[in-house]
Amino acid sequence: MNMQEDNYIIEVSSVSKFFGDKTALDNVSLQVKKGEFVTILGPSGCGKTTLLRLVAGFQSVSKGEIRISGKEITQTPPHKRPVNTVFQKYALFPHLNVYDNIAFGLKLKKMPKQEIEKKVKGALKMVGMTDYEFRDVDSLSGGQQQRVAIARAIVNEPEVLLLDEPLAALDLKMRKDMQMELKEMHKRLGITFVYVTHDQEEALTLSDTIVVMSEGKIQQIGTPIDIYNEPTNSFVADFIGESNILNGVMLKDKLVRICDTEFECVDEGFGENVPVDVVIRPEDLYIFAVSDAAQLVGVVQSTIFKGVHNEMTVLCGDYEFLVQDYHHFDVGETVGLLVKPLDIHIMKKERVCNTFDGKMVDDTHVEFLGCTFECIPTSSIEAGRGVKVEVDFDQVILQDNEEDGMLTGEVKFILYKGNHYHLTVFSDWDEDVYVDTNDVWDDGDRVGITILPTSIRIIN
Ligand code: ATP
Repeated sequence: MNMQEDNYIIEVSSVSKFFGDKTALDNVSLQVKKGEFVTILGPSGCGKTTLLRLVAGFQSVSKGEIRISGKEITQTPPHKRPVNTVFQKYALFPHLNVYDNIAFGLKLKKMPKQEIEKKVKGALKMVGMTDYEFRDVDSLSGGQQQRVAIARAIVNEPEVLLLDEPLAALDLKMRKDMQMELKEMHKRLGITFVYVTHDQEEALTLSDTIVVMSEGKIQQIGTPIDIYNEPTNSFVADFIGESNILNGVMLKDKLVRICDTEFECVDEGFGENVPVDVVIRPEDLYIFAVSDAAQLVGVVQSTIFKGVHNEMTVLCGDYEFLVQDYHHFDVGETVGLLVKPLDIHIMKKERVCNTFDGKMVDDTHVEFLGCTFECIPTSSIEAGRGVKVEVDFDQVILQDNEEDGMLTGEVKFILYKGNHYHLTVFSDWDEDVYVDTNDVWDDGDRVGITILPTSIRIIN
């Protein structure tokens, strides 16, 4: 084992977890350094709890390997792993007082009484609950109960503390206070924290490293600053903070076109005339009364006072920008916008159109997505031949009435791109279909999906 590996306390290697047909984790790899505060962040259902439970040992991996402190523990039962877990629901014993809740595990281990007392007192001090030893846990507030739950987990001196949305049940004020306390506690204890949350602000506040997940896969691993400033794809950009996410074309190195306007940027190596996703944070757009400095000119559509700043939407041509600024402009005012090259973030597009595996049925029909579609005659490809089928995002038709579609699906991810929505529709054939539309759909909407013959490109 080399020095580098020695530094990792947790190594998750190519781990997948299946529940029947459902893939909860898809080939996930993650390395956590000793003493790090790592947060696993993602929307509901992305697999973050599953990943934590696999490390804790409450669930078994379907594929892959997990090592803790260099030791393969994939088959090791939870109580034999050097980890402890704090859950969202405090899971305290209601019939035991604070002291006995914390001492419970140590008593099971038959530790001498005096030593238990010393450890319990130490743990209570750590969570700021020194005078609460003999209180009934039922008489404590949510925040205090969660502190006791944390004390109970750290009293065993685990090498790793796993925390599954531990603050989710607390009100906002208490959550903010506890965040600061957890950060302090992490410093004082010097042990590794792996924290699960769906709250991006919490992740940015607490972590050394954030792991952003979506649909069972890791999208990005990085420091809070990296993740915020340099999101690797539009999912991360959309999920972390607020963003303007737009289609652009990289004209050449350091020059991008968005909204029919050329902007200098700092990115290189994308090639020439390559479609890209462009992210501009609302706080990076300068807004002012129109002048020669304006890169874009637009009209204010809405304005909300947010305490420290104003949040405004500005329509430039047919693109809508979200702007946050100390200056206030009224609805209807014509304004100029400017963004510095460094604040334009360019991301490779994951795809530029839908691509499906298909099979020719005859000259005018092709099979893909589990259906037979009519297509423009292609006499040169024989029946039965496997082909690639391409369909542009804006050529997929979605229908309210599922029965009107050639196949059906569910809208599951909506990205606003300034002048249209980019949707991911999970088809009932288990394949994603990507759609650009001006229609407003909601997450979870059931839809019919139709593709016209003229929209189908067959690639031999
Ligand atoms: P949440 O924040 O809502 O808890 P999560 O990101 O923690 O979401 P997981 O609980 O890890 O997500 O679940 C990931 C996926 O696996 C979900 O689609 C979930 O329905 C599924 N899943 C989790 N546990 C089971 C199980 N025991 N049986 C079947 N499916 C499961």
